[in-house]
Amino acid sequence: MLDPAKIRQELSSLIQDQFTLQKSLVQSRDKMVQGSLFQCYTACRKGHCKCTQGQKHGPFLYVALQVKGKTVQRYVGKKEDEGLVRKLKHYREFRRQRKELNRLSRQIYREWNRLEESLIAGKIR
Ligand SMILES: [Zn+2]
Repeated sequence: MLDPAKIRQELSSLIQDQFTLQKSLVQSRDKMVQGSLFQCYTACRKGHCKCTQGQKHGPFLYVALQVKGKTVQRYVGKKEDEGLVRKLKHYREFRRQRKELNRLSRQIYREWNRLEESLIAGKIR
């Protein structure tokens, strides 16, 4: 059974969340760089190093960037890479929020349908 009061409450809450998210996205001023961060373990394979027994070194932070249509991997663990890492994280966060916004929009659309349905009288008298 569809309860219009409950659906209204749900819609209000979703619209509020959507507004907050849109505000956050539209106010985003920091520059970002498109790419994905990942951690990597390596093996130097020197002499009796622990990595020769399977205990690899790391994790080290790397980035996969698209350069002229090719994926380029680069180590980003140095101090001077902090700015780049921040821009990459901002990109990831921006994308996450946009995805969440799309999800909310679909949910709101469904709730509008449910509200309409709940307001249509079941019995004609
Ligand atoms: Zn090693």
